[in-house]
Amino acid sequence: MILLINPPLVKPSEPPPGLARLYGTLRAEGVECEAIDANIEGILYLLGKGSPACDSWTARAVRNRARNLEFIRSPQSRLNLDRYKRTVSDLNRLLGKSADSIGQARLTLSNYQDLALSPVRSADLLKAAEKYEANPFYEYFSKRISSAIELISPGVIGISLNFLSQALTAFSMIGFIRARYGRIRLVLGGSLVTSWVRGPGLKQPFEGLIDLVVSGPGEQVLLDLAGIDRIAKRRFSYVPFPANDYLSPGPIVSYSASCGCWWNRCSFCPEKAEGIRYEPVPPKEAVLEARELCSAHRPALIHFVDSAMSPALLSRLAENPPGAPWYGFARMTKRLADEDFCRALKAGGCVMLKLGVESGDQSVLDLEGKGMELGLASRILASLKKSGIGTYVYLLFGAPSESEAEARNTLDFTVRHAALIDFLNLAVFNMPVNSPDAKRLATSPHYEGDLSLYTGFRHPKGWDRAKVRHFLESEFKRRPAIAAVLSNDPPLFTSNHAPFFVG
Ligand code: SF4
Repeated sequence: MILLINPPLVKPSEPPPGLARLYGTLRAEGVECEAIDANIEGILYLLGKGSPACDSWTARAVRNRARNLEFIRSPQSRLNLDRYKRTVSDLNRLLGKSADSIGQARLTLSNYQDLALSPVRSADLLKAAEKYEANPFYEYFSKRISSAIELISPGVIGISLNFLSQALTAFSMIGFIRARYGRIRLVLGGSLVTSWVRGPGLKQPFEGLIDLVVSGPGEQVLLDLAGIDRIAKRRFSYVPFPANDYLSPGPIVSYSASCGCWWNRCSFCPEKAEGIRYEPVPPKEAVLEARELCSAHRPALIHFVDSAMSPALLSRLAENPPGAPWYGFARMTKRLADEDFCRALKAGGCVMLKLGVESGDQSVLDLEGKGMELGLASRILASLKKSGIGTYVYLLFGAPSESEAEARNTLDFTVRHAALIDFLNLAVFNMPVNSPDAKRLATSPHYEGDLSLYTGFRHPKGWDRAKVRHFLESEFKRRPAIAAVLSNDPPLFTSNHAPFFVG
């Protein structure tokens, strides 16, 4: 028996796709396994505990807890963005206050930070494992993991670690299991662990604490442990997850039709730097699987979690709708400038596309390997708007090829297209530690930690992070047209809830 666990904390909007794929694949191969989403369970546990603090905001959040949970899970929350924002803010307050008296943790609905421990320092992860009782989720996970172990007696426990915000609690759970149930084999995998293994930092992958550290998809490793040679087919299953508990205006299921990115040429991309190979599921098969998930779970939304949905997959979805509204990341390719195609996508359920525009300066796009013409981007934004498909546009500032002049071109581009953009994400460039630019430019440690995936660097044009941040805060975000777009963003849940607010 294998027990799979998704540790807190990530946005509790939907069940974890990585675990759904592991569980579905193992079950399809006849392997006995169970899965726990300790993220949603742990967050609800803390929200249910109330708070000792008695300031008026917290008292209101405690008083309205049940009503707020009901509201955020109801379709009505889509109709009232102001009330939705107040509800999220109150639930977030409650979660933050629930951990106030425990250790140095600072919790929000989208992040876990510890003032004393860093998730990118392996020594701190080992400390989190050693002092597992100090974790704010300890009361929840000690009871939950113990009762699961007593019930199903797993021989293997697999922990799926995908985000930095999960790392300290994942290691606290590992420390607890190791201390109490030393005979159980512990396997650690997930996309963050894969990045660590492929990066330069992880020399001795937690020897003595974890039995097996997995790089890449974990299905075959777990099947090997169960004595099965080859995967017949990867499958998703959301059966073990509490569909109605997630904090979203309707149930969401995620599906991934590929591993890696079909473009794989952007110089700033961590996936490219890690050399992740592109492995797509054939579009016909992917759409069939998405349809099966829709029939089984009747979601309000499908989240395609591919790094970039391929043009072939988009065409297939336009011809064969999956049966529920959907959204995902897409590259700005020519077909999206075709209004007829966009109308077919919309008719097939596409509610929103996430688009990496990155810069409003052609020279930056060219030098960073983006492979996109700004004229085409304009036509695509117009075509999607006319078709009623929402856009979540990602911009990146401070790349090595950008100076203030180019950033100002991005400002002008964004203002000119603001009426065509529904949501905006503004990011400051991080240099992937393995990227070609990191080898070319003068670098210095950026985050203090041996597991950091990024490195500091001396910007060749003097356009450093402090200047970029100042520009964004003092100018970019203050332009009225841009401020209006930014105010559409669902707080904390951002793009995970944005499709519910399109139109
Ligand atoms: S399109 Fe996105 S995922 Fe693909 S290489 Fe560029 S940044 Fe990376």
